[in-house]
Amino acid sequence: MPYLVREHLFIGNIGDAADILQNGSNKITHILSVLSSESISFFSEWRSGISIPCKEIRKVYSGDSGSKDVPHDMPKSALSPDKLLYSLEHAGKDLKIVRMAVPLRDMESENLLDHLDVCLDFIEDSRKEGSVLVHCFAGVSRSAAIITAYLMKCEQLPLEDAIESLKQSCESVGPNDGFLEQLKMFERMGFKVDRASSIYKRFRLKVLGDSYNRGEQIDGSKFGADPGLPAGTVSSNAEASPGIQASPTRAFRCKKCRRVMALQENILDHVPGEGESCFDWHKRRGGNPFRRPGDEECSSIFVEPLRWMKTVEEGGLEGKLTCSHCEARLGYFNWSGIQCSCGSWITPAFQLHKSRVDISTI
Ligand SMILES: [Zn+2]
Ligand SMILES: [Zn+2]
Repeated sequence: MPYLVREHLFIGNIGDAADILQNGSNKITHILSVLSSESISFFSEWRSGISIPCKEIRKVYSGDSGSKDVPHDMPKSALSPDKLLYSLEHAGKDLKIVRMAVPLRDMESENLLDHLDVCLDFIEDSRKEGSVLVHCFAGVSRSAAIITAYLMKCEQLPLEDAIESLKQSCESVGPNDGFLEQLKMFERMGFKVDRASSIYKRFRLKVLGDSYNRGEQIDGSKFGADPGLPAGTVSSNAEASPGIQASPTRAFRCKKCRRVMALQENILDHVPGEGESCFDWHKRRGGNPFRRPGDEECSSIFVEPLRWMKTVEEGGLEGKLTCSHCEARLGYFNWSGIQCSCGSWITPAFQLHKSRVDISTI
């Protein structure tokens, strides 16, 4: 039986969803399925003999979500554009249930964050029209993570309080550690997925680092636009956003030839001397224990990978970063991390030495 979490909001497992889809329900009108496959055939594979009718309404991919508020052509989300964000369909007995299906595996490395917006909107809208069941396979990790985020946002609850509150309805919930880390980021971003925040940028870089570690091809399309190219060629989307006024921003130029190598928006901030607390839920790596407050500032800046970094595309674990115009040595990259002079570890790291770049406003 599904557990009631709030008025018109239930949590359950695959059996609960199958039962409602096969037999209908006098209370549930909407189902949010979070399973490793979005296909309704997942139910027949789970238990042979089950056949659930469905009629597709639409499928939405990560790249479809528009790029109107994205500066240059920075990837909007850490998901690849061809990744299915969700599918929506009429399903079940007499096609009476509206089912949104989000493909997500229960793994720590899985990108929950980039699915949250659509899930939370669906829950909110469904509760206005009827009642919604959020389910995954066991009703323990994925569905609980999404409902936790929903409670955090609606009731402005810190992560721990939201989980505690959910446990009052359903004792067995326990999102996996990777999801907990991401929910903590969600809290720190102000109960939203703020893709311009440095928290999100570091998350996106971590996702890229994970795919590097899995041996996936890292090509320049996953990198930020090259700010040194003349405006206009920087982004094919530039004309699509005429309403956005370019405001003055800090630019980092090669000291030798003055080519722009990075903009403020490419910088990944870190708190000097602090470990990776912003995305290490468990193993908080300490900063440098010998560092005292007031020690000298960081000697490097860390940026997201940018398209001029040809040495990164060659696929090595680490290497030099050189100016694409005059070939001056600017810094270093290492997918497994670099320690800043302040003691902080940045992983993965794309580092520019402050002594090799000039800062100006453009
Ligand atoms: Zn530092
Ligand atoms: Zn140069």
